[in-house]
Amino acid sequence: MPVADNLKRVTSELPEGVRLVAVSKFHPAEAVVEAYGAGQRIFGESRADELTAKRAACPDDIEWHFIGHLQSNKVSRVVEAADVIQSIDSVRLLRRVDDAAARLGRRLRVFLQVHVAAEDTKFGFTPEELDAEITPELLAGLRATEITGVMGMATNTDDTDDTDRVRADFRAIRAAFELLKPRIAGLRDISMGMTDDHLIAIEEGSTMVRIGTEIFGPRQY
Ligand SMILES: *Cc1c(COP(=O)(O)O)cnc(C)c1O
Repeated sequence: MPVADNLKRVTSELPEGVRLVAVSKFHPAEAVVEAYGAGQRIFGESRADELTAKRAACPDDIEWHFIGHLQSNKVSRVVEAADVIQSIDSVRLLRRVDDAAARLGRRLRVFLQVHVAAEDTKFGFTPEELDAEITPELLAGLRATEITGVMGMATNTDDTDDTDRVRADFRAIRAAFELLKPRIAGLRDISMGMTDDHLIAIEEGSTMVRIGTEIFGPRQY
């Protein structure tokens, strides 16, 4: 069972206090069930339709994390199917998610996505935007969501020697966490680190890594 072996290897490298989100996007529900059989309980998906389908097909006690860019027309579906939305990248989206959760009678944990990488293609608040936009008034107005973490990605470098840039990005994500911590009592998670860079992320304070390829192999569709 390659998935079980891969999981075992990945989890054996994680220090205490660092949790694993197994990123199952673009892999079938059978792959999730296989990982579940090996003890994994937290899974990450990046598309609303895949999340909904897998939630229906997989065991009930899985904790589903949505980690993809969330378009406004998909908010209700994701709020219904996710336990945690890690990819809140604007105040507008935060309000929409909170409204949908209140309407649907759900309580949801959310993470604020921080943009620090060099690529413009990545989403999220810059640290300056977090500082200016995540105000006490905004926080006081949330009815059905609790902000419990930040999530971010480092610059995608093909150059394996360019770990300085990656490390600097993780430091910036952690600094954003420290900036928000005094404002948000329940803030506890720093979600950073993927297949290629999670060991650096852990050195820089990650509490949650999101790993797909190393567990499930190359994405299938
Ligand atoms: C796909 C994805 C991952 C997992 O990436 P791997 O390199 O396959 O481990 C982690 N985080 C986010 C936000 C993703 O979209």
